[in-house]
Amino acid sequence: MPLLRSLRRLGSRPTHQDWPGLIEAYRRWLPVSASTPVVTLHEGATPLIPAKAVSERIGRGVKVFLKYDGLNPTGSFKDRGMTMAISKAKEAGSEAVICASTGNTSAAAAAYARRGGMRAFVLIPDGYVAQGKLAQALLYGAEVIAIQGNFDRALAIVQEVANKYPITLVNSVNPYRLQGQKTAAFEVVDALGESPDWLCIPVGNAGNISAYWMGFNEYKAAGHCRNLPRMMGFQAAGSAPLVLGHTVEQPDTIATAIRIGNPVNRDNALRVRSESNGDFMAVTDAEIIAAYKLLGSEEGVFCEPASAASVAGLLKRSHEVPDRATVVCVLTGNGLKDPGTAIEHNDARFHTGLAAETDSVARVMGF
Ligand SMILES: *Cc1c(COP(=O)(O)O)cnc(C)c1O
Repeated sequence: MPLLRSLRRLGSRPTHQDWPGLIEAYRRWLPVSASTPVVTLHEGATPLIPAKAVSERIGRGVKVFLKYDGLNPTGSFKDRGMTMAISKAKEAGSEAVICASTGNTSAAAAAYARRGGMRAFVLIPDGYVAQGKLAQALLYGAEVIAIQGNFDRALAIVQEVANKYPITLVNSVNPYRLQGQKTAAFEVVDALGESPDWLCIPVGNAGNISAYWMGFNEYKAAGHCRNLPRMMGFQAAGSAPLVLGHTVEQPDTIATAIRIGNPVNRDNALRVRSESNGDFMAVTDAEIIAAYKLLGSEEGVFCEPASAASVAGLLKRSHEVPDRATVVCVLTGNGLKDPGTAIEHNDARFHTGLAAETDSVARVMGF
């Protein structure tokens, strides 16, 4: 199209339409009423980015898209669940919330709770939370409690605290979390006009895979799509209870967001696998890092290591993807959450200590 005509077409559109946040956007699909106080940071409406380099690696006309949920307000999909969980907690008159977290849940809980005027307590495994996430929880004004134990232990403690004391638990055992998170599936169908053939997603506590499945099914029941995707869940090899079929006592992986040995939504996840004809599979830390670097350096998309498990898994299973299939990989969190891993694992040429002279700069550039 000639440049002038395309510019005119753009000019006829508002340059920015305000997105009201996912509760307003998908209100009729969510358990809220006119009297629910909506606590929102206008989360959702994240881009579905065509992944050219990943698609080309697979070939055969397969089209891969990245659902970049790292672009939510606190940098992960946890915001989708937290706008619902915090709004409902506020509606119920709660004054404080608590969660256990590998990092992103605590960042989201802190931001939304404080915005809603509530106190936020977060339990984290000491030393195993990426720096950006800890920074967020602190800055948003959470009361952070670091324990010498892993996520699974932290979750057991917060469940007991929430049973005994007047405080609302906002981990993904909270059903409102999954209600909010299912809107990501709505957005995928709204963008593609149909469900993808495969949905690839990293799995920790398995709340998100359950939420997506709920979303696709609700949209199908309402006639917004005809098909349902195969749900392909990927866990880190050192932390793969759903693949192994048993709890992992000492989960270990570079992908700290999915360093979970005893997933609370295990039963949901197993049901999703059988209903969707899906599968769970483990990917090694080396495969995760390879996908992480590929996404950054060839797609221009910076996600956190756990998120790259979806692409690592897709590449591992790519021979099974049907010709011309549409695949969505969920990128659950933003790469800026964990700058340490990026600085340690990259193939960049980083020239340091150079004299501040044009000649020496030009020389390392190869001139
Ligand atoms: C929470 C989280 C996951 C895992 O999601 P589950 O619902 O626990 O399976 C994956 N990636 C990132 C970045 C997360 O924050």
